[in-house]
Amino acid sequence: MLDVIVIGAGFAGMYMLHRLRAAGLRTLVLEEGGDVGGTWYWNRYPGARCDVESLEYSYSFVRGWAWSERYAAQPEILDYARHVAGLLGLRADIRFRTRAESAFYDEATGSWTVTTGDGDALRARFLVTAVGCLSAANVPDLPGLASFAGPTYHTGRWPHEDVDLTGRRVAVIGTGSSGIQLIPAIAGRAAHVTVFQRTPGYSTPAVNGPLDPGHARWFEDHRDELTRRARSSPGGFLVPYGTRAALDVTAGERQAEYERRWTRGGVGFLTGFTDLLLSEEANESAAEFVRAKIRAIVTDPATAGRLTPKDQPIGLKRLCLDTGYHATYNRPDVSLVDLRETPIEEIVPTGLRTRDTVHEADVIVFATGYDAITGALLAMDLRGRGGIRLRDRWAGGPTSYLGLAVAGFPNLFTITGPGSPSVLTNMMVSIEQHVEWIADCLRDLGPHAVIEALPDAESSWTEQVRELADFTLYAKSESWYSGANIPGKQRVFMPYLGGVGNYRAECERVAANDYEGFLRTRLP
Ligand code: NAP
Repeated sequence: MLDVIVIGAGFAGMYMLHRLRAAGLRTLVLEEGGDVGGTWYWNRYPGARCDVESLEYSYSFVRGWAWSERYAAQPEILDYARHVAGLLGLRADIRFRTRAESAFYDEATGSWTVTTGDGDALRARFLVTAVGCLSAANVPDLPGLASFAGPTYHTGRWPHEDVDLTGRRVAVIGTGSSGIQLIPAIAGRAAHVTVFQRTPGYSTPAVNGPLDPGHARWFEDHRDELTRRARSSPGGFLVPYGTRAALDVTAGERQAEYERRWTRGGVGFLTGFTDLLLSEEANESAAEFVRAKIRAIVTDPATAGRLTPKDQPIGLKRLCLDTGYHATYNRPDVSLVDLRETPIEEIVPTGLRTRDTVHEADVIVFATGYDAITGALLAMDLRGRGGIRLRDRWAGGPTSYLGLAVAGFPNLFTITGPGSPSVLTNMMVSIEQHVEWIADCLRDLGPHAVIEALPDAESSWTEQVRELADFTLYAKSESWYSGANIPGKQRVFMPYLGGVGNYRAECERVAANDYEGFLRTRLP
């Protein structure tokens, strides 16, 4: 029997393997893909790149990698993952092209049995999921889809072989982060791009460019100090966080701050003031700034109007970063279909039919997002004590203790699970924190331990996650953060909003208090 099975070999699973080996635990990683990299293995669509600066979106303990751009493109990030796998010799303990179909906990032996897609049953004392928050692709069930004559792709399941869109008429459905990156990248190469937009989103410029080697050297020289700073910050980013409320300064000061952050680019547009996600009035000032930018960039007023978010606060859906997204609509070979005005009625062999016309297309790209945070966990048949299914335990929405553990599921840890800061933060910072906490926990407890979240601890943590959301504008928002993008999914705001610094302190306190909130026993 193994000590630990880890599911997923993205950045979380790779680091988990490294730390568990260092703790002397026999570990096997199961990975559905053909190599390491997770998100960056699957998201190969044109224009895919990280929207966190690459210097920050990298392991804090790996040195000597030279990023070429401020925001690396997907191939470079995948190369980085491969480089780290080689450096640490990880592949020897990763079984690729192996999907975990089910995982059952056996109370008699205190162990997990994981059944793979090829029918193998593997046993381990502990199970760690590193399945990613955005990995279960959402493809809408559009009538007639099977009749479409051309190929269809989802951005998160992009083929590994070359997809040549040159001279093709491409229909893109979805204008979230993925669509906003893809659309400018294929415009000009495709014969025509028709974008099907349901809700216009806010986006601010990434301001990408070559990475200054001097800055990269400085970053590496100060890496430990910068890592400490990121780990105690609200979001795990090294952006400047403002200390004043937007409503406490003059309109001119607000405007100047927004302009400064717009020009600098990156994830910090909404961190300039303390109240942008708390007060509708403050939020509206930032939203209106971005709307005015869209109107100034897009030359056709009707198109600008359709692209401009109305009656929606900014930042409650993930704020996108783009490179020339809105300006793409000034091209003659890019057109916009507003699905609120003319919904897709059906897919026909030659394209997409709306009320007034058939929009002809050779290729359809779904940039329609994910069953986020819980989707990949629930895609497996996970069963805990007494055979209870995670799917049933979470029928009313996910519950967890610290986003790391679920009552009734002993010896299971969920990296960046629901109830942890995860997707609202720099994922690298959150991944490292979870991995280190889990590895230290297993090292402290030893391989014969059984550890399980107590129901009371789980309820009060879940309540705390909800209360924090209720305190902010997120409470009323409709986004994948709360499952609103998936028809029938229970609406629960899933990420913990207290910030990575506070969250880390809480996890450390729990561990220092002899794993308070967990029931610990030992196998005989
Ligand atoms: P997303 O943000 O969920 O956007 C999906 C888009 O598809 C939305 O515009 C949505 O419209 C639309 N859509 C969904 N179902 C539809 C349907 N049935 N008909 C028409 N339109 C539909 O997904 P995403 O763009 O893949 O991004 C997901 C997350 O992944 C991001 O928020 C980000 O965290 C991460 N990501 C990051 C990067 C990066 O680092 N640069 C890149 C890509 C993704 P509605 O808004 O109306 O639902």
